[in-house]
Amino acid sequence: MAAEKKEEEEEDEYKMVELKSLSKRDNIHSFALNDSSPAYSNALRRIMLNEVPVLAVEDVEFRRNSSSLYDEMIAHRLGLIPLTTDQKSYEFKNKCKCKGEGCAKCTLKFTLKEKGPKTVYASSLKSADPKVKPVHPKTIIVKLLKDQEIELEATAVLGKGEEHVKWSPCHVYYKSMPEIKIQENKIKDPKTVAESCPAKVFEVKNNKLQVKNIFNCHMCNACVEVSDSSVQVLPSKKDYIFYIESWGQLSPREIVIAGTEILDQKLMELEKAL
Ligand SMILES: [Zn+2]
Repeated sequence: MAAEKKEEEEEDEYKMVELKSLSKRDNIHSFALNDSSPAYSNALRRIMLNEVPVLAVEDVEFRRNSSSLYDEMIAHRLGLIPLTTDQKSYEFKNKCKCKGEGCAKCTLKFTLKEKGPKTVYASSLKSADPKVKPVHPKTIIVKLLKDQEIELEATAVLGKGEEHVKWSPCHVYYKSMPEIKIQENKIKDPKTVAESCPAKVFEVKNNKLQVKNIFNCHMCNACVEVSDSSVQVLPSKKDYIFYIESWGQLSPREIVIAGTEILDQKLMELEKAL
């Protein structure tokens, strides 16, 4: 019986974190991570930045380049063009069945052949896989003058942000969820307190100060000062708000799911090792 009780207690201690979607725009997503810890939040952030794999150009073979830019500069530009990534169809080159030689499962070829005068955009890259293409087709690669030519073959591979930022899928950060405590009976002028907030967190209803949008709060403490500490704002130690902005290779949702899966996998590996 005692053992059972202990197990129950342990389960309680390691209860699941809770995710709640707060707002979605095309490439920006924010969500609340509840009942978590600073360690888990930061691990998730770092994994989303550095370990969720995406495709990027790694090798470029130039056949012709009479443009005003050196081969290296063009290759560098190609590397930084975000490519829509189909996570399930590709494998890391060093983990692929071809043993690193390069096959359709681990490498993707792009070709580019243009003659001036014209501006060469990312949309001119011809992809061998219709699902993988530049996220922003209007990215300028090079401007060609009359009779200048460029012809190349670029190879994209899967990689991780920890190796080079071109393989990082997003910008992500988090903050502690604010905990706002209002001592109603001590507030003389609720309207002044509400108006002091630059983030429009409060509203006044029936002459009472209420929290309307807690997620806007950036803990500037303007309300605390103006109310003589009748309002208190403290950062939560277990609830966090995440903001994730994708560069377009994957959707924010795909990045969060992949990030949590990678973290789980790492924890399982640790468990096995123990
Ligand atoms: Zn391969």
